[in-house]
Amino acid sequence: MIEIANLSKRYDALMVLEQVSLDIHAGEIVALVGSSGSGKSTLLRVIAGLTDIDAGSVTINQKLVLNEQTSLPPEERNVGLIFQDHALFPHLDVYHNISFSGVSSQQEIETIARQLQIDGLLKRFPHELSGGQQQRVAIARSIAAKPSVLLFDEPFASLDESLKHALLSELQQLIKARNMTAIFVTHNHREAFALADRVAFLHQGSLAQVDTPEKIFTQPSTEACAEFFSRGH
Ligand code: ADP
Ligand code: MG
Repeated sequence: MIEIANLSKRYDALMVLEQVSLDIHAGEIVALVGSSGSGKSTLLRVIAGLTDIDAGSVTINQKLVLNEQTSLPPEERNVGLIFQDHALFPHLDVYHNISFSGVSSQQEIETIARQLQIDGLLKRFPHELSGGQQQRVAIARSIAAKPSVLLFDEPFASLDESLKHALLSELQQLIKARNMTAIFVTHNHREAFALADRVAFLHQGSLAQVDTPEKIFTQPSTEACAEFFSRGH
């Protein structure tokens, strides 16, 4: 579903991504982990079409979306990007925020809202919601747009632990039930283990290891990886 090949990017002297290659299958959830500054957000932004590159290519659902000559705009890439700062439309109620893309039927929207436990909030406006509720609406909106690929950039960083845990398992079920493909950026390895089929560890702009959660934890291939996973995140 996603083929990332030899991606490199620098900001002046700083090499932010270095020869990053990663293939992600349809229906797979990959957690992208690594310390702050390792290049996680940059990689997601490159896939989404918000940042250019120096070398490499990205193919999504067999469509070349990025190489040194070509860069399709975000809306032609069939991806949904969800940030920590969920920018909801303040003048639209929850239902119309979720239905904004026009892709899902009313029944589908009601189902998604029910699964994310926001079906009682459909007539409210964003300013009448808690942070956690707003984040659920943002996730519902992305899923209702039916992209091939969902890209999450630390979406739960501002939520408290118990809420985070509940949302993670709901989100996993939603993605799996729809056979969507997702990359989930986090610097929290517990989140990665709870959610992901595979974990990709990014270290100083290079993918140091890509493995199942069990394998990457029990058999880290580099010292940096071992050190990262032994920290109490
Ligand atoms: P992460 O999401 O893993 O914390 P980022 O992808 O945000 O890492 O950043 C990787 C590196 O690139 C950091 O050193 C960061 O300071 C740098 N960086 C990110 N965006 C820019 C930019 N627009 N200009 C210059 N440097 C940047
Ligand atoms: Mg980041």
